[in-house]
Amino acid sequence: MIVLTAPSGAGKTTIAKHLLKKYPELDFSTSATTRSPREGEVEGKDYYFLSQEEFQQKINDEAFIEWEEVYEDRLYGTLHSEVDSLIANGKKVLFDIEINGAQNIKAKYDERCLVIFVKPPSFRALVSRLTNRGTETPASLEKRIKRIKKELLFENTFDMVLLNDKLEDALKEAEQIIESLVLKNS
Ligand code: 5GP
Repeated sequence: MIVLTAPSGAGKTTIAKHLLKKYPELDFSTSATTRSPREGEVEGKDYYFLSQEEFQQKINDEAFIEWEEVYEDRLYGTLHSEVDSLIANGKKVLFDIEINGAQNIKAKYDERCLVIFVKPPSFRALVSRLTNRGTETPASLEKRIKRIKKELLFENTFDMVLLNDKLEDALKEAEQIIESLVLKNS
């Protein structure tokens, strides 16, 4: 299992999409969330978009490996059913999740799991990237920025750090990690 984790806006989703396109051995663990779809996002591919009630029901049913209230009233979670079916299909599972979720997945799968922290070049660069992305309202942008400050402190607590300054370089380095550490033994 490969977990890409990072503060919001560090570019982990772009890196994840690139790796999924390049390596058919990998497949994406589609999470469940209560946030609304962004333009272009596809149900069942980017996320399973659930109502608060549906998400709560899945919590009660213990359907999640891990879940987090990442932002106020916005829940995100990794489904047992999703990961089990990818593993049953012989895939290496790629996760794109925030820091607490990454810690929980690591605690559960330990040696079977490589956690890569995607590091933005600087706090300021991250804020301007997130602002330019234009997907956030001013209120949600503020919440994300508050969270980013805390998340950056976790850089050295994972297996690897991948600097995403120039995207092209980061993609190359991500490929090298996957080829040398994940696909080599398969
Ligand atoms: P976004 O709303 O930008 O898609 O995601 C917000 C944050 O939630 C990102 O850091 C994303 O990686 C994280 N996230 C997505 N799915 C999950 C999940 O299943 N569990 C956890 N803990 N975080 C997730």
